[in-house]
Amino acid sequence: MGILEVKGVNKRFGGLQALGDVNLSVPENTVHAIIGPNGAGKSTLLNCLVGKLIPDTGSVMFDGQSVLGRKPHEINQMGISRVFQTPEIFGDLTVLENVLIPCFAKRDGAFRMHAFETVAREGEIVARAEQMLEDVHMLDKAGMQAASLSRGDKRRLEMAMCLVQEPRLLLLDEPTAGMARADTNNTIDLLKEIKATRNITLAIIEHDMHVVFSLADRITVLAQGTPLVEDVPEKIKGHPKVQEAYLGQ
Ligand code: ADP
Ligand code: MG
Repeated sequence: MGILEVKGVNKRFGGLQALGDVNLSVPENTVHAIIGPNGAGKSTLLNCLVGKLIPDTGSVMFDGQSVLGRKPHEINQMGISRVFQTPEIFGDLTVLENVLIPCFAKRDGAFRMHAFETVAREGEIVARAEQMLEDVHMLDKAGMQAASLSRGDKRRLEMAMCLVQEPRLLLLDEPTAGMARADTNNTIDLLKEIKATRNITLAIIEHDMHVVFSLADRITVLAQGTPLVEDVPEKIKGHPKVQEAYLGQ
């Protein structure tokens, strides 16, 4: 059984069937890519995994436990973390401060760590945040204001904010969207490092096929809310159903 098991998930928005009978099984410590044309339901599926949307029917199991009916922060505490389509960072804070926030939040899902405890553990927490920045090759930018970072670095920072929570499943929604080729390649390298050095499963939505084929162990092609085909990258390349899905784009 996979660390993530999605079975028979349906989601409607009024008259629109955004997801229709989606099944997905992602083994632990693998990279699973979800591709498909615009409006295929990729982000909707991700939203169903993190508690932002509740499927109309079906089940979503993470490590043998249902995520359905749980609040986003509870799902986050179960070990699922998500990198958003637009980086969600605190522009006014420094890079280091941004990474410190999830370190505190991890305590109990809210910012409720007691002041005396914060002081007592400050050194340890800062060291952890700095190590995280080193892991994503941003320690030299620790004191910079986050708003002044390049687009690629903002993404990298957001990834650090997720990874510092030590998730077991990291969900990425178009992590290289709008990036220049050099930043895209840096992101591929970083994700490869993350995959190689951590106990982590990645589920990635991505338009850039170069990224998908560089990283994915398996690929699901979603079209009009339904998985059309799921296979290893070599089999997806040039698959007639995949060509079909993108026709009319
Ligand atoms: P993708 O991420 O694959 O581009 P989405 O999951 O964002 O696709 O959207 C799938 C379909 O559901 C689209 O037709 C979109 O317009 C629709 N949709 C997504 N979110 C909502 C919503 N909150 N309300 C109504 N329709 C939505
Ligand atoms: Mg989307």
